[in-house]
This record gives sequence, C-alpha cells and structure tokens, in this order.
Amino acid sequence: MIKITLPDGTIKEYSKGSTPMDVAKSISEGLARNVISAKFNDTIVETVTPLNEDGSLTLYTWNNDEGKKAFWHSSSHIVAQALEELFPGAKLTIGPAIENGFYYDVDFGEHTVSEKDFPSIEKRALEIARGKHDFKMHPVSKAEALEKYKSQGNEFKVELIENLEDGTITFCDHDTFTDLCRGGHIPNTGIVKAIKILSVAGAYWRGDENKKQLTRVYGISFPKQKELTEYLQLLEEAKQRDHRKLGKELELFAFSQKVGQGLPLWLPKGAALRERLEDFLKKAQKKAGYEMVVTPHIGQKELYVTSGHYAKYGEDSFQPIHTPKDGEEFLLKPMNCPHHCEIYNTKPFSYKELPKRYAEFGTVYRYEQSGELHGLTRVRGFTQDDAHIFCTPEQLDEEFKKVIDLSLYVLGSLGFENFKAQVSVRDLDNPDKYIGSVENWEKAENAIINAAKEKGLDYVIESGEAAFYGPKLDFMVKDALGRNWQLGTIQVDYNLPERFDLTYKGSDNELHRPVMIHRAPFGSMERFIALLLEHTGGNFPLWLIPEQAIILPVSEKHEKYAEKVLNSLENNEIRALIDNRNETVGKKIREAEMGKTPFMLIVGESEEEHNTIAIRRHGGEDLGSISVQDFVDLVTKEINSTLKSF
Ligand SMILES: [Zn+2]
Ligand SMILES: [Zn+2]
Repeated sequence: MIKITLPDGTIKEYSKGSTPMDVAKSISEGLARNVISAKFNDTIVETVTPLNEDGSLTLYTWNNDEGKKAFWHSSSHIVAQALEELFPGAKLTIGPAIENGFYYDVDFGEHTVSEKDFPSIEKRALEIARGKHDFKMHPVSKAEALEKYKSQGNEFKVELIENLEDGTITFCDHDTFTDLCRGGHIPNTGIVKAIKILSVAGAYWRGDENKKQLTRVYGISFPKQKELTEYLQLLEEAKQRDHRKLGKELELFAFSQKVGQGLPLWLPKGAALRERLEDFLKKAQKKAGYEMVVTPHIGQKELYVTSGHYAKYGEDSFQPIHTPKDGEEFLLKPMNCPHHCEIYNTKPFSYKELPKRYAEFGTVYRYEQSGELHGLTRVRGFTQDDAHIFCTPEQLDEEFKKVIDLSLYVLGSLGFENFKAQVSVRDLDNPDKYIGSVENWEKAENAIINAAKEKGLDYVIESGEAAFYGPKLDFMVKDALGRNWQLGTIQVDYNLPERFDLTYKGSDNELHRPVMIHRAPFGSMERFIALLLEHTGGNFPLWLIPEQAIILPVSEKHEKYAEKVLNSLENNEIRALIDNRNETVGKKIREAEMGKTPFMLIVGESEEEHNTIAIRRHGGEDLGSISVQDFVDLVTKEINSTLKSF
C-alpha cells in the first residue's frame, strides 16, 4: 500500500500502482468525470500514471490553470496530427500550451499555411478528437528516438533529442500519431469538443534569428462548443476595446513618426484626463503624508553608476548625452529613485523625522526595440506615479499597510473589483543571491505578509520571485475581459540606501540605514490609461471622463438658454460643452454616443419655458426633463458612489 496526501491534508491508503484517476474515483464519480491532469509531489503526471510511492497528489480539472495547460498541450498534439496529414513532409518541432491556448512550430517545407487552410485543419483535428483516442506515454531509448526522426529527416526533433539524456526520453501516442513529449496530457482526445486555429506567424527555431524560420500555428480549444463561442466574442470585444483604436476615436493621444516611435503625444482631452488622474492621486497622497518633489529628466552618468542602473540599462538603452565639455556625460533618466535618494541626502534626519515620503510624477526613458513597442503599453518615454518612502526598519510594517490602503483606494475608485496580490519572497535555498541581513529580510517579508493578511487581500506567496534587493507585493488586476494586468508594485529595497549611503540618527544616537519602499499605484500614466480604456471600453468613471455632459440645443433659438445651462453647470464643477453645430439633434446624439459622453442634455422650447433640461444617458436611457439643480445632484451622487474620500 502507498499513502497519498490530498491538498486538504487528508491521507488515504491505496494499493501500489494506483493512478490519479483511481484516487479521483475513490473520492467521487463527479470528480472522476472531470479530472484531466494531476500533480504528484512536484511533477505533472498523467491521470493514468501508476503511483508507486507515498506522496502528495493534486487533481486538476478544466477549472484549474494546470488543467487548462494539459488540455491545450494535448490539443496541440491533435492539431499536429492534422497538420502532418494535411501537409505531407511537414516537420514538427515544439507545441506547448500558452496562456490562452497553444501553438505548434512547424517547418512546412514547400507549403505555405494561411487563413484559408484553417477550416480544413479544424475539421480534421475535430474528427481526430471525436475518435476518443487515449494519450499513452511510453519510454524510448535515445537511439530509438533518434532513429525515428532521422528517418523522417526532422533535424529539429533530432536536435532536441540529442540534448536529452538516454533513459529520460518518452513518446506520446494517440490514434496513429506519435510525438516526442515529456508528458502532461488529458486522458483522451474526446474531451476536446471545440478547436479553433487562431492565426499563423513566423517564428525562428529556438527563437534565434540566425536559425531557420518556422511557421507558428496558434490555436485554442475547449471542452464545450459554447465556451469557444464565448471566447471568440471576447476576442472581438477586445478588438473593439483596443486602447490604440479608442485613444484615436476619443482624441486622447497620438503618435508621430517625426517625433519618434514610442513617444506618445497627449492631445488636449488626454492631457486633461491625465491631469485629473494625477490630481486624484496627489490629493490622496497629501492626506497620506507624501511630499511632492520635482527632479530633472537627465542626470550625470555617475549618478546611475552609483545606483547600479547604468550597469542594468546602460548598454541596451539610450546612450549618454555629451556636452561641449570633454568627458561630461548625462543620461536620460531610466528611474526616479536615484534622484530621490539624493533629495534624502540633502540633510541629516533623526529617527523622529522619518518616514519621509517623496512623490513625483516623474517621466523616465527606456529604449525598447521598435518591434516591442505597442500603443501606450510599451513606450520609450513614460511618466511613473512614483514615490519613495524612507523609513526605519521598525516603521516598515505600518508604512506597508498605508501603501496598500492607498493602492486599494485607487483600484476601488477606478472600478477594479477583481484583483489578487502576489507577494514575492526569497528563495531560501539560495541565500547568497540577496543583499541585506537575513534579519531585515525576515522583518520585511513578515511585514508584507501581515499587511496583506490584515487588509484582507486575496494573495499568493511566490518563493524565489523577490528581487535581489528586497521582497515586494504586486497587484494583479483582472480587467472586464478577464485579462490579467500587473499593476501597483510595492517594493522594499535594501540596496539603494546602501549605495547612496543614506543614514538617519537612531534613538541610540548612532547612524543607521533607512529602508526604502518604491511604490507606484498606477505603474505608469501611459500603461494605466491603456488599461482603463480597455477595461471600460472608453466609458470612464464619471469623475474622470473628459466631458461629463454635452448640451444639445434643438435649434439656434435655444442657444442662449443652452449657454445659461452651461454656466450653471460650470459653477457646479460639471464639465460640459455645447454642440451648436448646424446639425440635426439626431445626428448630434449619435456622435455624442460615439464619443461616450455620459449625459446628453437636450434643450428646446418646453425646457426653456420650464427652466429644465431633457436628459438622455449614454446608451439611450431617457431620464425625462429635470431642473439643472436636480441634474447636478444626480451627477454628484453618482460620483460620490465611486469616488470615496481617502
Ligand atoms: Zn505532449
Ligand atoms: Zn524607485
């Protein structure tokens, strides 16, 4: 008998050679129907892998990330079989699961595969799936494996096998198809009920541009047709919400080849939006005890040599700026931290004066390859909502909680309800990797974990993910389309205080090192606005949107009254404008809808007579005719329901 420990801690006995599927059956029939993959100790296994020793077992279904991974990886085998049949002579290379679906890199030889081939690939793949063929792993000798692929003339698989050790090589069979594979499959092909080939792209063998270019076939699959339909709708919705498309339509930002790639130009409406976001954060930061500072966009090269950023960014980033003076070199700043360290160094502090919290909307520049640039999410110049907190080790706990409070306030006010926190801590097996004392690390890691617990965050701890200079907490935000964005890092740092020789006088009258916290709830203004655009589809929260209302006079006659309305709105700090173009009201409404303006205020004969405005909401809801004051109250109430005071 062997002892199997389940995730809830229960230990059950099974006869030696029992499989994860046997364990699932012993728990419930329902689980056995749904289990598609498993992990035994730290290894992903098949549901039919015999278990021969004591250990812990986790069973996965489609609802787990690991389950999806097995599902999609197995689907790549099915698609590979279809590709091999439809394109004779095609050489298969690798076919992993990815975040959404899978791909297979193939050398198609003289064939070119394009969108018009997708239906036939999907049809054949689905036929194979319906055959309910079991995925069966079996070990092969290195010689046997090499023999198979050498006879096919597949130099890619031969190269892969040559790097493997004899005795560790396995093949996976299903139907008439065999592939070199380490494992991690679902029980049989029949579980895959819907397959879609999404795109093809060029990809170099082993990601090396000096090697052969292959065709990467991207696909996705699901256990239900309905889920595929929903996924395709989501993809279409994502296309509609693409921030590059919306940014153009809403006149928020633009790019100019003349100015340079990756350098966004903020148009008046976008600049106003940014300013509002900045003011919102500045106000909360002021209450939280931050002080604003301003630092230049460049700094002497020496500054970044001291900070270590030159070693990190120097070679691959913008090169030093030279002056007429010999040997004088400046860098565009890649980070604000070194400047803030020097601000801290302008005078001596005692422990009683800490923490110091310096905040700056600081613009930084980093060189990104032109192929990596993407709208506002990957740019070469961006503004961080940066701040650095300098505190004593004893204050770290409290400060961390305060930063979490601020981050939660930001997320809540902007309509993000779905998020998790990730706490990155040391790899305890590699203590030499980290700078700073073990005692300080323990203190900092405990401070972060306690803060996450106390603030009720849904968090996971990732061992070994911490930077060499300190542990951190990241907020992972799920947007309206279910995509994950990393936002709002809070990073503890023992390195820069050391490098810049920062000190404070303790109660013992001795000099000590402060701890530094880097934090940016938005991350960068550019990336955050991109996320907001895609999350809201351009329907920003009312407090943030550039124009909250647009006044539409029915005819020229009512323009005077429209101006009177505008005046009272402005006096009540409502952002509005009048559309007095010589167009029909119908056309003006359609355009205001396109522009995502939340309220359309129509003024005509009856409104002027009764001193009211007729209100139509974005999306078409008719709120009837009300007084300007009632409208102001409505807007204020709605703003207060999302924008809580900090
Ligand atoms: Zn496989
Ligand atoms: Zn920093």
